[in-house]
Amino acid sequence: MTFIAVSIPVNAPEDIGVAMAHAAASVEAGAELVEWRIDDWPSIEGSAAVVAGLVGDSPASSILTVRSVTEGGGFEGSADELATFLRAVAATDACPRYVDIEYAMWIESEALRAAVDELHEDVGLILSMHDMLGRPDDLLRRAVDMQAEEAADVVKIVWRARSTRDNLEAFELLRHRSKPMIALCMGELGLPSRVLAGRAGGFLTFASSAAGETADGQCDVTTLVQRYRFRALRPETMVYGIVGWPITHSLSPIVHNEGFTSAGIDAVLLPLPVLKGWESFKATMAVLLSDPSFNLRGLCVTVPHKEHALRFVREAGGAVSDIAERAGAANTIVIGPDGALAADNTDAPAIIETLGCDPSGSRVALLGAGGAARAAIASLVEAGARVDVFNRGAERAAALVETMDNPMCTLGDLDEVSGYDIVLNTTSVGMEGGPEPDGNPVEDLGLPAWVIEEAGVVYECVYAPRRTPLVRAALAADTPVVTGEAMFLAQAIRQFRLWTGCEPSSDRWRQLID
Ligand code: NAP
Repeated sequence: MTFIAVSIPVNAPEDIGVAMAHAAASVEAGAELVEWRIDDWPSIEGSAAVVAGLVGDSPASSILTVRSVTEGGGFEGSADELATFLRAVAATDACPRYVDIEYAMWIESEALRAAVDELHEDVGLILSMHDMLGRPDDLLRRAVDMQAEEAADVVKIVWRARSTRDNLEAFELLRHRSKPMIALCMGELGLPSRVLAGRAGGFLTFASSAAGETADGQCDVTTLVQRYRFRALRPETMVYGIVGWPITHSLSPIVHNEGFTSAGIDAVLLPLPVLKGWESFKATMAVLLSDPSFNLRGLCVTVPHKEHALRFVREAGGAVSDIAERAGAANTIVIGPDGALAADNTDAPAIIETLGCDPSGSRVALLGAGGAARAAIASLVEAGARVDVFNRGAERAAALVETMDNPMCTLGDLDEVSGYDIVLNTTSVGMEGGPEPDGNPVEDLGLPAWVIEEAGVVYECVYAPRRTPLVRAALAADTPVVTGEAMFLAQAIRQFRLWTGCEPSSDRWRQLID
């Protein structure tokens, strides 16, 4: 069994009450171990007895950790000072289940090794290393050397993920371990290593409490247990991902994981952030697909990789649906048990399904020229609408209109703007965490504000936040609005069907994202 350890910072004696409450809530939520991060204590006069009390009152077995500044903590003292502190703790008869000692200090200080030896015999040693910058060049040698240390009960290796691929290396380390091991990656890119630690045989994964993260990229215990079903994940569990950048605000993990649970499907969907650019997408996909033990079975694809997704599947000889082909973009990849790839686009039918009117014969001002724009144009033109494309980058808009190669899709002309039946935003302007969260794309692209007032419907693709500046402007003008979560739900339901053949509960999904 892989433990969930909640990591709780306690910076001073007066913080203990609050810290204990956070620990109790986390244990209630599913944590089995509490890591007390007491980085500042060795320098506090008479602190050993108070720390002993902290360990004694802990709502679950404890790990006592004094993390140095070099390895991401706050302890500025030397290994010998830490040894003195540990000896004082030992004198109180305190008995944490584990102490975490950094390998660099361990090999440097004989006094520290002696102090650990003097701890109660039930105290285990977690020998740890943390690289705050990235994967250390000598990662494998360090893993071998640390596991060779006889005193170590558990070896802990943590580094900052620079790409989604780092997670696979953490799983590889776990697979080849010779003693209990923790292998985790920090940062947003490292989440899979934390969620899938149990599936890969890790000794534990760390999670955060309401007190906040003690390492960048931890998720809280409740999210780990409920959303990602940490306890239920097995080596055979199928992995799905949401690929994009940024994806912190994505709702996909919330709905799809609920869908898997309700349908009794042994699968989990995780954020798999992939940095901008075709090369980065291609390299990440190649690595994820080349590791059969990762068991990747499908992807949602979002900004800015929808065109890359189509290209990747096409170049790999996979199947591309007609609508994805016509759109020149895919938001869904299905991966068969044999690795066969298929690309589809569920944005396109989702737009028509949620528009609330028949677009046939309508005039549409389409804002944007990226992946979502392609899907919108392909479906609207097919449904008989006439689309004018407005985009910040003129070249991209021209290239889009050229590839669409349809007289019903033309470049918008700011000198000849007339009333539109539908104003449809596919830019990421107004998106939380995006390039211009406070922007209104109509204004940004130089269209007059009255196009919003005169439109029969304003359709917003952005769903985080719900009330984007464009949605607010449309509501203020009493123009009917379709907000991004309607499209989100419709396209996500189609994705789920493509992956599983099952029908999720749209009502339940709507409740979850409301
Ligand atoms: P994309 O391919 O990266 O395209 C982004 C578009 O936004 C481009 O047209 C880009 O113009 C424009 N843009 C970015 N920053 C801008 C700025 N500061 N000013 C003006 N225009 C700007 O992204 P996408 O996949 O099409 O997605 C676009 C948006 O739709 C995202 O917010 C995404 O979350 C949302 N979306 C929602 C759903 C849903 O289910 N609700 C589905 C799909 C997409 P340039 O060409 O000039 O760079």
